[in-house]
Amino acid sequence: MKTGVIGLGAMGKHMAMNLHKQDHLYSVWNRSREKAADLAGECGVSCAESPAALAADCELIIICVSRDADVLEVVNAMADHVRPGTVVVDTSTVSSDTAKEAARKLEDHGAGFLDCPVSGGVEGARNATLAMMAGGDAAALDKVRPVLAAIAANIVHIGPTGSGQACKAVNQLMAAGINQAVTEALAFGQQMGLDMDKVVDVVSNGAAGNWFLSHRGKTMLRGTFEPGFKLSLHYKDLNICKAMGEKTGKNWPMVEMTLLHYRKLMEQGYGDEDISALFRLKTADPASSPG
Ligand code: NAP
Repeated sequence: MKTGVIGLGAMGKHMAMNLHKQDHLYSVWNRSREKAADLAGECGVSCAESPAALAADCELIIICVSRDADVLEVVNAMADHVRPGTVVVDTSTVSSDTAKEAARKLEDHGAGFLDCPVSGGVEGARNATLAMMAGGDAAALDKVRPVLAAIAANIVHIGPTGSGQACKAVNQLMAAGINQAVTEALAFGQQMGLDMDKVVDVVSNGAAGNWFLSHRGKTMLRGTFEPGFKLSLHYKDLNICKAMGEKTGKNWPMVEMTLLHYRKLMEQGYGDEDISALFRLKTADPASSPG
């Protein structure tokens, strides 16, 4: 299946390389052309002039760009050129409403659309071990599943268009809660005067153990916040959760609290750090504490 990738950032470039390794990659496009030219040269595939040119050539198009407006910009640019029967898979993290709008646009031109956000970070993208949450037509997913298997180890059809993004919002809200719990508990342990490396080791293997504690616990205790998952990206995702949550008429306090804390950290210049930088606020002196 002739497969094109649009968006060769931290995630998209690895997806493209993994598709290439399985002989699926046909064409790439990136807004900053140099990234696309380099990858196309390395893989010996076509470097498309525009999203429209890529759309005219491909049977499967995988998008991985930043935000809602970016996805719609790319979809609008492709819509008049996409071939009937082509499937467009958006792996960006955006809102369910954006997924529905993109699907409508493409379906008007005879193409299919699946919202397929991913979880697993840059490591998952590099190692092709991403978890993929798919929304849209199950038959369209079955058609492209063998190709998507080159980038994701676990692909689950959640339901109709938009449900993949709603599932990703569940994931992001849960990640916020885990971040709050781990950073606060470790700051509490420090205040108790404990040997915190021992605390991380023993707690990681008990009922409160989790991936975030095991992988980020000791680094945050040493004041190292190299990006695994950028705080500013999680902030974007929690704003998506907030907008989706507002439509339910219920309160989602974890979302509100984490947005407030991330905003403070971003104002202090920590937006490009890992989300575990929340530990900075939990250990700050009370005058500047999170509240
Ligand atoms: P990134 O490294 O910042 O890359 C963003 C990509 O989007 C770049 O290729 C950028 O092009 C392109 N782009 C942005 N605006 C565009 C526009 N208006 N038109 C066309 N292209 C545009 O981001 P990333 O980490 O790869 O993340 C991509 C998506 O995956 C995001 O929605 C993110 O939330 C999601 N995600 C990320 C992770 C993670 O750990 N990083 C994990 C799961 C999901 P340029 O090169 O020209 O800037």
